[in-house]
Amino acid sequence: MKVVRCKYCPQLLLTPESRARGYGLVCGRKRGLIPPPTPRHTRLATPVTAVTTPDLHPDQLAIPLEPEMRNPEPDKARALPQINVECPTCSAAPGDLCTSHGGTRPRRHDVHQARTAAWNRHTTKEN
Ligand SMILES: [Zn+2]
Ligand SMILES: [Zn+2]
Repeated sequence: MKVVRCKYCPQLLLTPESRARGYGLVCGRKRGLIPPPTPRHTRLATPVTAVTTPDLHPDQLAIPLEPEMRNPEPDKARALPQINVECPTCSAAPGDLCTSHGGTRPRRHDVHQARTAAWNRHTTKEN
């Protein structure tokens, strides 16, 4: 293949289009010889403002979002009633998540069985 260089820079021209033109795409664009690429989506003539939910009236309550929607990975264990007692296994304080692996990893989805058992004893005692 015959070596063809861009007439504006030392760039080798490899594509048949560039070789036929005699200059590269970059130089052609830089010099306005090649039109810039057409955007895939033509820009709108008027800017569009995003529609947002209007503010609530002060006396109206917002509809609460599902916890899953706000937090994709909620600490399910916090919703368990047995979270309110101390865990006999890992000695997590009431309201705290159980921990595994020597206290390095919180158990977000459940608690130790002994804690559930402790809670059951606790509720039976109260009733
Ligand atoms: Zn060039
Ligand atoms: Zn525990």
